[in-house]
Amino acid sequence: MNETLFLIVSLGEVDTRIDTARKELENLPLQISKKFNELKTLQEELEDIKTRLEETKRQRIRKERNLEETQSLLNKYQKQLFEVKTNEEYTAILKEIDNTRNDISVLEDEVIMLLEEIDNYEESIKKLEGSIESKRRDVNAFRDFSKQRENELKKTIDELTIERERLAGRIDKMILSRYERTREHNQGRATAIVVDGVCQNCFVNLPPQLVNRVILGETVERCPNCACYLYHKDDEEHKDE
Ligand SMILES: [Zn+2]
Repeated sequence: MNETLFLIVSLGEVDTRIDTARKELENLPLQISKKFNELKTLQEELEDIKTRLEETKRQRIRKERNLEETQSLLNKYQKQLFEVKTNEEYTAILKEIDNTRNDISVLEDEVIMLLEEIDNYEESIKKLEGSIESKRRDVNAFRDFSKQRENELKKTIDELTIERERLAGRIDKMILSRYERTREHNQGRATAIVVDGVCQNCFVNLPPQLVNRVILGETVERCPNCACYLYHKDDEEHKDE
């Protein structure tokens, strides 16, 4: 391969590795804050259910008090039944007893429903507390990993930057500045492999004469469409991929 082309292709590989490392490095704090937000959401959900549980418990106390009062009202009516003088009074009290019994039955159903609700809330709280605990461990473990990974990535970027400078120093200034401009226009890419006559950066079919020159590798060629520097890998190398 032409030496300049070889240097450009090597520079392209180093730049891709630098970009990948930088992207991962930038992503680490985002991943932490995403996990942290998930934890916060679970905690808020827990607080919400706890509030609802307390409110339901208060409702239950009120309802049970109400039930006791209705119960004593029933007792009162039942005693009055023996003290009445007239048939009309007797019928009226029987009606009251009937109504009160109905009220008691409704209140009892309501208390049972509240008890079920309380059970459900308590079960949800238990589950959520488990999820929060495991999410908290996850956040802490990721934070530790992230610190370690950050150091590794910074070291990699430093090493690659030195390698980049070494390669760039050996490339003609004019070609290097063309390379940089192409990178700006192609999301960081300025080199492209040619497979079956197609530029693998922009996927345009290249003229056969150009493809032949790229396969020979004796000249520096660029894609007429995306301006990437073109190179070819022989089949031997392809089999390894
Ligand atoms: Zn292209």
